[in-house]
Amino acid sequence: MRTLTSYLLGAWQPAAGEPSATLVNPATEEPLAVVHRAQDLDKAVAYGRDVGGPGLRALTFKQRGELLSALSKLLYSNREELLDLAMVSGGCTRGDAKFDVDGAMGVLAAYAQVAEELGEQPWILDDDPASILRTSKIRVQHVSLPRHGLAIHINAFNFPAWGMIGKAAVALLAGMPVLSKPATSTCLLAHRIAELIVEANVLPAGAFQFLAGSAGDLLDHVGPQDVIAFTGSAAVGAKIRGHRAVLANNVRVNIEADSLNAVVFGPDLEQGTELFDLAIRDAVTELTQKTGQKCTATRRILVPEGLLDTVREVLAERLGERAAKTGDPADKGVKMGPLATAQQLADARAGIKALEADAKIVRGNPERAEFEGVEAGKGFFLEPILLEASAEAAANPASAFHRIEVFGPVATLLPYDGGVEAAAAIIRAGEGSLVSTVYSDDREFTGAAIAALAPHLGRLVINDEKNARGAFSPGCVFPQGNHGGPGRAGCGAELGGTFGLDLYTQRTAIQGGASQLARVLGKRKSAN
Ligand code: NAP
Repeated sequence: MRTLTSYLLGAWQPAAGEPSATLVNPATEEPLAVVHRAQDLDKAVAYGRDVGGPGLRALTFKQRGELLSALSKLLYSNREELLDLAMVSGGCTRGDAKFDVDGAMGVLAAYAQVAEELGEQPWILDDDPASILRTSKIRVQHVSLPRHGLAIHINAFNFPAWGMIGKAAVALLAGMPVLSKPATSTCLLAHRIAELIVEANVLPAGAFQFLAGSAGDLLDHVGPQDVIAFTGSAAVGAKIRGHRAVLANNVRVNIEADSLNAVVFGPDLEQGTELFDLAIRDAVTELTQKTGQKCTATRRILVPEGLLDTVREVLAERLGERAAKTGDPADKGVKMGPLATAQQLADARAGIKALEADAKIVRGNPERAEFEGVEAGKGFFLEPILLEASAEAAANPASAFHRIEVFGPVATLLPYDGGVEAAAAIIRAGEGSLVSTVYSDDREFTGAAIAALAPHLGRLVINDEKNARGAFSPGCVFPQGNHGGPGRAGCGAELGGTFGLDLYTQRTAIQGGASQLARVLGKRKSAN
């Protein structure tokens, strides 16, 4: 059994006292590791700021990009070990494990590319100098520089690799040191990645610290130049946003939280088309990939009333095939693994019960106890569950499926009249989501949907027949696109190419003479 500790103040901390948690394989419940809490978090915060910050800021964007490339190569050369660890410790199939680990490498590569484009400049010139008065030579120009604090990253359990590395890539490129705290329950993979980073010794001293176990008093030590990027539940997000030191110091906080993502089957969608097949394939992927434990997974499926019977039948059949291949991911034939923890299983079952107040189960048994390759009753398994609501319940913003995110392989079919207004009203009832998707060949419908839906979303995927073959499943987050949504989704914004750097930089208006600005600030070069 492994012992997991924190890497703080330039050293792995000793495993003092009793462990605070035991990590298990969620398919077999076999213990894998114990976690020890760290002390002296005030010192770690100061060390990151005072040692890591100057070291990173001494480098140009291009040089920091080279660090990201080195990290990407490091993960690649240890990929097999990391995939195995994701499978054993996170209940991931090999495909799920790749989604997490390769996704982490993808963000590093994308931000190494952004660094290439930003080049040797020490700061980002956000715009060209603007004239203040027509008769004056005084100009104003916006410049973004790395904040002189620590980037504190608190991550959710579902993406131990992508969550940690995705956030770190952007902060390090911006020039901010990182203290990364993964969710305790699945931190074995994040811990191994941290070990690799430390062993490789590619980052400047203090640029990367790793906190195992709970956050303890970490947030008591935040200051005005620090940034907190949190991913997790709305409840913990609200605690962080309302933390005394965060409020007192006006600390910049980014929250990525719950989301009731929706897909809209357009009024023109017909069985037998590639677009219909794509909509079904995506729905199956989003319910079952990572066992539905993705913040971007589809939770609400809007279907025109006339197409409902067909969609229910096809989807139930396809999900049934997945249900038959749910079990221990160590078994090669398995297509869906368990939930990550016993608590997640209990929460998901309770969530399904709550959804049943406003919808009925049309496929799946939440209490099923026998799965492929595991002893009956062992492991944290839940087969795919499909629910369906009436049109009346779908249109009611108070319905449970508009309020409760069941973090598992669970979605609800919602009939609507095929009009944009009705679809938009249903999606708005989710009060802000990370992503929604429209499947339609009707350009008028899609255009109207963009206008009605986009303000309520961080990302909107539009699929038509022509692009159906090359389309990506909507739950796939690409570093080039914004990740984060308004309202319930936390009102955060991460990734999105150079936009992602905004979280870790301070934009300052520099005001001065036109020629002086040109001489001191140099010529604008932006990756945007
Ligand atoms: P969680 O229980 O909110 O935990 C998230 C993180 O917060 C963990 O690292 C946890 O540490 C830490 N934490 C807990 N209490 C804290 C406190 N008082 N102060 C500081 N940190 C604290 O969420 P989860 O169960 O890991 O993740 C599931 C949720 O995340 C779902 O609701 C899902 O929608 C959301 N999610 C959102 C996104 C997104 O990008 N929007 C992505 C993934 C997941 P411990 O583990 O040590 O308790």
